[in-house]
Amino acid sequence: MRRLEGALRRGEAEITLVDRNNYHLFTPLLYQVATGELPSHAVAYPLRRTTARARVRFVQAEVKRLDLDLRVARTSAGDLPYDHVVIACGAVTNDFDIPGVGEHALTVKTLADAQAVKRRILDSFEQAVLETDPAVRRALLTFIVIGAGPVGVELASSLRDLMDHTLRPMYPDLDLGRETSIVLIDGSERVLPQMDERLSKIAARRLEQQHIRVVLRTLVSEIGPGAVLTRKGARFAGRTIVWAGGVGPNPLLQGLDIPRAKDGRLIVDRTFRAGDRMDVLALGDAAAFEQEGRPLPQLAQVAVLQAPALAGNLVRLLRDEPLVPYEHHAKGDLIALGRTSAGAQVRRLFGVPVGNIVVGGLPAWTVWRVNYLTQLLGVRNRATLLLEWILSFFFSRMAANTP
Ligand SMILES: Cc1cc2nc3c(=O)[nH]c(=O)nc-3n(C[C@H](O)[C@H](O)[C@H](O)COP(=O)(O)OP(=O)(O)OC[C@H]3O[C@@H](n4cnc5c(N)ncnc54)[C@H](O)[C@@H]3O)c2cc1C
Repeated sequence: MRRLEGALRRGEAEITLVDRNNYHLFTPLLYQVATGELPSHAVAYPLRRTTARARVRFVQAEVKRLDLDLRVARTSAGDLPYDHVVIACGAVTNDFDIPGVGEHALTVKTLADAQAVKRRILDSFEQAVLETDPAVRRALLTFIVIGAGPVGVELASSLRDLMDHTLRPMYPDLDLGRETSIVLIDGSERVLPQMDERLSKIAARRLEQQHIRVVLRTLVSEIGPGAVLTRKGARFAGRTIVWAGGVGPNPLLQGLDIPRAKDGRLIVDRTFRAGDRMDVLALGDAAAFEQEGRPLPQLAQVAVLQAPALAGNLVRLLRDEPLVPYEHHAKGDLIALGRTSAGAQVRRLFGVPVGNIVVGGLPAWTVWRVNYLTQLLGVRNRATLLLEWILSFFFSRMAANTP
C-alpha cells in the first residue's frame, strides 16, 4: 500500500486498505509474545498511522467474499466496489484434518493465539504449584509442541528460556529441572526441514542443550484432551499442546474462479496477475508464485520483497504500460534459538549476493536481532522492541497473566 501510494500521481487513483484488524501484525516475533519476552503492542503496528498520512482509506472489516464478475468486495462493513483488487489475505492455520487440533491444541497465528499460549503456560505453573499428585503435576508441566518448523523450534527454545531465567526463581517450590519437560514432535527427518541442513544441525544441537525432547519421523494422528496420539500408536501426555504444524489457504480464496495450486494458493504469473485477469493481483501467502519450477515459500521475506514489485505493476496496469516480471532473490533464513543463540543463513547482504554462508551462536544472534529491529514497522515499535529485549535479557520476562 505504501509503495503504491508513493508511485501514484496525485489524484490518479484511490486506494482502500481493508483488514479485519486495525493493526499490522509482525508474526515472526509472535512467539516472543507467547513466552513473555515481548508485550503485544511491540508486534502490532497501528495501520491508521500509515494510511492517514498517505491519504489512503482504511476500512476495518471482514471481507466475506469477492465478487470478481461485479468487481465488489462483500465485507462486514458493506460492499466495496473496485477497479483492481490486490489479494494479500495471507494464510490460516492448517490442521490437515487431524481430529482434535481445534478443540485440544493451541495455535500460534494471531495475537490472541499468542496471548492464549502465554496464559496457558502461566496457569499451568500456578496449578502445578498447588498440585500434590506427582503425575498430575508432571502433566501440568509438560508442554508439547507439534511442528519443528521455525515457529515450533523458536517457541520451544524460548519457552525453555522463560522457565530457566524467569519462572525458576518465581516458583521455588517446583523443581523445574526435573519436573518440566518440553516435547517437540515432527514427521520429518530433521528439525527445520525447509531450511538449509546446516541450520537444522545448529538448531538440533541447541535444543539438546536446552533439554528439549525432539521426536522426529512421527506423524500425529489425533489430539485429545491432554494427549497426543501418533500413527505408530505412541501417546504423549501433557496439559499444554501447541499446534505449529503449518498453514493452509485463507477461506476467502475458496469461492474464487481462479486456478489454484495443490496447496490452495492462487496461481499468479510472474507479474502477480491471477487467472490471467487484468484486475486481480495476489501476493504473499495467498499467492503461488512459481520460480524454478516451485512455488515460493510462505514467508514474510517473500511477501515484503514482492510488495514493491506488485505495486509497480499495478501502476503500470493503470497507465496501460507493459508489466515487468518479478524475480525473487532469497536473502537467507534466520532462526532464533533462545537468549543468546541463533542460526543464520545469509545469501544476500544489502541486496548483494554473498554466496551461502551459515553461522550460529552469537554472530547469528546479532544478525537476527538487528534484522528484526530494522524490519519492524514504526519508530515507536522499534524503540519498544529494543527496550523490551534489554529488559527481558537483563531482568525477567513479563510472567503475569495480565489481559
Ligand atoms: C507464528 C509465525 C511466525 C512466522 N515467522 C516467520 C519468520 O520468522 N520469517 C518469515 O519470513 N516468515 C515467518 N512467518 C510467515 C509470515 O508471517 C507470512 O509469510 C507473512 O506474514 C505473509 O504475509 P501476507 O501479507 O501474505 O499475509 P499476512 O501477514 O498473514 O497478512 C494478511 C492480512 O490479511 C488480513 N485478513 C485475512 N483474511 C481477511 C479477511 N477475510 N478479511 C479482512 N482481513 C483479512 C489479516 O488480518 C492480515 O492482516 C511466520 C508466520 C507465523 C504464523
